[in-house]
Amino acid sequence: MQDRPLALPHVFHRAEQYFGHKPLVTAEVDGERTTTIAEWAERVRRLATVLDTLDVSADGRVGTFGWNTARHLELYMAAPCSGRVLHTLNIRLFPEQLVYIANHAEDEVVFVDRSLLPLLWPLVDRFETVRHYVVIDDGADVPVPDDPRVHDYEALLAAATPFAGDFVVADENTAAAMCYTSGTTGNPKGVVYSHRSAVLHALITLIADGAALSEHDVVMPVVPMFHANAWGLPYGCLLAGSSIVFPGPNMTPQAVARLLERHRVTVTGGVPTIWMGMLPLLADHDLTPLRTILCGGSAVPRALSESYREAIGVPMLHAWGMTETSPIATMSVLRSHHAELAEAERADLRARQGQPVPLVDLRLVDPGTGEIQPWDDVTSGEIQAAGPWIAAEYYRGEGGGAQFTEDGWLRTGDVAAVDRYGSVRLVDRTKDLIKSGGEWIGSVELENEIMAHPKVAEAAVIAIPHEKWVERPLACVVVKPGETLTAEEVIAHLEPRVAKWWLPDAVEFIDEVPKTSVGKFSKKTLREKFGGYQVPGQTPVT
Ligand code: AMP
Repeated sequence: MQDRPLALPHVFHRAEQYFGHKPLVTAEVDGERTTTIAEWAERVRRLATVLDTLDVSADGRVGTFGWNTARHLELYMAAPCSGRVLHTLNIRLFPEQLVYIANHAEDEVVFVDRSLLPLLWPLVDRFETVRHYVVIDDGADVPVPDDPRVHDYEALLAAATPFAGDFVVADENTAAAMCYTSGTTGNPKGVVYSHRSAVLHALITLIADGAALSEHDVVMPVVPMFHANAWGLPYGCLLAGSSIVFPGPNMTPQAVARLLERHRVTVTGGVPTIWMGMLPLLADHDLTPLRTILCGGSAVPRALSESYREAIGVPMLHAWGMTETSPIATMSVLRSHHAELAEAERADLRARQGQPVPLVDLRLVDPGTGEIQPWDDVTSGEIQAAGPWIAAEYYRGEGGGAQFTEDGWLRTGDVAAVDRYGSVRLVDRTKDLIKSGGEWIGSVELENEIMAHPKVAEAAVIAIPHEKWVERPLACVVVKPGETLTAEEVIAHLEPRVAKWWLPDAVEFIDEVPKTSVGKFSKKTLREKFGGYQVPGQTPVT
């Protein structure tokens, strides 16, 4: 067979040649901007020569600090197709982390949405390698600094000559993009995606037993483009020829619901928090065309998925993965042998993380002994992953050698049980497990049960020290607005659902569960807050 590189230029040229008439819509600060793939492709060609004009090195890192927009998609292609590396900076990170990441990646230029300048500009003097800041004017009423390093995106594009001919990336293992993972401790770790991994992973978004992106779809990635390449949806859409709607800066549930309705979106994707927020609005919007809601990044509560199924007939398509896995590693799709099951059992299955997608291998390993565990849906262990879009190391080999096994598998830090069909059911993360009297308590399972209570908006369970059992669970609960709830009611709700020794020793009511920069529950923050927590009536831990 021919040895042709699996590289993003193919994805670009395919979109340009076959799907030029397809629309790209972006919701901006001052209204919607609609363009076509043909116009987008011409701008990608201009942008490639802009990178030359700005003197970005042949394999230089091109930083982006932006919302989900069609112009961000221009960077998604121009950087890797011209041999550079797209580096999507996470706009929600703390300043210190952003400074660390931009310096560690040695970004040479940062493209920034005008609305985000107030977050970025105070840091620029600490960025050691960035020579240019290119402002993408999204209509925000924010002053643009008068500084020789600052350029206007549209002015640069207008002055540029479009790159002519075919983009070529001869070696498919060349770096195409990179993302840093937040990391619960220490500095963020860089994950570098190759052209090969990006193309193969994009194909996975097209498989029928998955998101099944097709030319007929209108896709709205709500998951940020700075979070593991928006789960591969943008590259998948370009490969498939789907229309794309970009939500831009306004990510309120109202705005997301309006866009889904107005543009007759068929496929969308985002973390559970987004869909929790939109739940009360479902009755007011006609979302009939919507067929798939890809959801992951955190466990998708069964109750959330069921609420969507009951309201609009579309449960969540639950997927699991990590920045290190590009990110899609498993998807929870029902199989033919589930056809006869009752709806409640099907809902249980959808709450699982699901089977590995093609080309991904998983194994279950006892974190203590390193022994491979059986797939009996009872025995739990750490999930280890291998495959062509699973990281083999972190950028510059820094930040977590221990996370890779000697035989080249990724230690995910996620603890799961797996059934005999290979369907993964996450029970916790290694760092989040509660070990009570030598036995594991799955905080994620407890949270899901608590969040199934009709008065509960959110809940997180963390370990608190206990004199006898070493660790015990503390439930941190957010009550829905206008509702009242007592600790006794929470415990009474749990009693028939979990083993007695799993019941939390205490329930704390909080205003909201603190979130990480990508919208996940920040257990670390909660653990810090409740570090020395003392359960009334219990012997203090010394
Ligand atoms: P990140 O690299 O920030 O995407 O985080 C990856 C981690 O998020 C995984 O290792 C899991 O702990 C968690 N995660 C991602 N998807 C899911 C899911 N569907 N269910 C439960 N946890 C998830």
